[in-house]
Amino acid sequence: MDEDILKEMQKYGKFLEERGLNLSSHSGNMSIRRGDRLFIKRRGAMMGDLKQEDVVETGIDEDDSGVIIASTEVGVHREIYKETSSLAVVHAHTPYAISLSLIKDEIVPIDDEGRYHLKKVPVLDVKESIGSDEVEKRLPPILQDYPAAIVKGHGTFAHGENLEEAYNWITVVESICKIIYIVENLGGDTMKEVDW
Ligand SMILES: [Zn+2]
Repeated sequence: MDEDILKEMQKYGKFLEERGLNLSSHSGNMSIRRGDRLFIKRRGAMMGDLKQEDVVETGIDEDDSGVIIASTEVGVHREIYKETSSLAVVHAHTPYAISLSLIKDEIVPIDDEGRYHLKKVPVLDVKESIGSDEVEKRLPPILQDYPAAIVKGHGTFAHGENLEEAYNWITVVESICKIIYIVENLGGDTMKEVDW
């Protein structure tokens, strides 16, 4: 495996952990695409302390090698690569996005930076959200139109040309959700159109 792949995954895994973007230590996942190969976090590996053996190589198409120990979400990552031109995917258990997704059908940014980046963040509601066929089928078409979406009650998925871009979208979505949470807790009405 290319040294750069491990270094990039270690860097953004640490950022996710240290910045409170992935609360439970061994959850979340990320991957990088190189041609028809996929490098993905190992199932149950610690996001903030990834080691060489925590990155698993498999194929974009069905490929038994590595799949058993690859992330539970490897199927979702594969489908995202098949349906978009992205080369990296990050999935994190983002606390504010998860919380808001439980009470809202979609997230509409209310702060300037959030509105500058995104008109809305889709929320996908499915019966089973972890390692789920339904997420594999329904999430990638949404990500053709949006850089990030939240699977209700589960977490944020983001994609981009590289891990930095996908990670950035995770932070943008979490920032949007955190500001909505704070404003609502201050008694503000986040549903009404804000005129800046
Ligand atoms: Zn997850």
